[in-house]
Amino acid sequence: MEQRKRLALVAHDNCKPDLIEWAEYNWQTLARHELTTTGTTGALIEKAIRAKNGGKVIENMPIRKLKSGPLGGDQQLGALIAEEKIDAIFFFWDPMHAQPHDVDVKALLRICVLYNVVSACNRATADFVISSPLFSAAYDRKVPDFSAYTGRYNREN
Ligand code: PGA
Repeated sequence: MEQRKRLALVAHDNCKPDLIEWAEYNWQTLARHELTTTGTTGALIEKAIRAKNGGKVIENMPIRKLKSGPLGGDQQLGALIAEEKIDAIFFFWDPMHAQPHDVDVKALLRICVLYNVVSACNRATADFVISSPLFSAAYDRKVPDFSAYTGRYNREN
């Protein structure tokens, strides 16, 4: 992982206020990284951060907004993770309400663990991750070696 990290931010509706407040508080740190979000989360974060900056667009802080989560945004994010294009995710999922895209949420959580993506699913963990010295340093995040799995039909016997 380079110093400039590829970060994903996602929050379910009941958790959006929490993630937005966290992003507002940390926007200057986040601005040093590359941000990808699900659609609504990204639009709200962008608006909140712009307001913090006196209504001005923040230069060098483009937010790549995927589709809304229930419309496939979580799956798009999962694909980026499988392509090793995301280093860390801040995913405030709602533990109290069923989601229409529950299976997508589960798949996203699974792929994060599979690819050893730094995953913060609540505010306290997000605080710890963003204040870690590793957050602004280069870090050798190991993606597991899947060759035994991918080569399982290549063996002689
Ligand atoms: P949203 O999607 O940011 O478009 O609301 C989040 C989600 O529910 O996965």
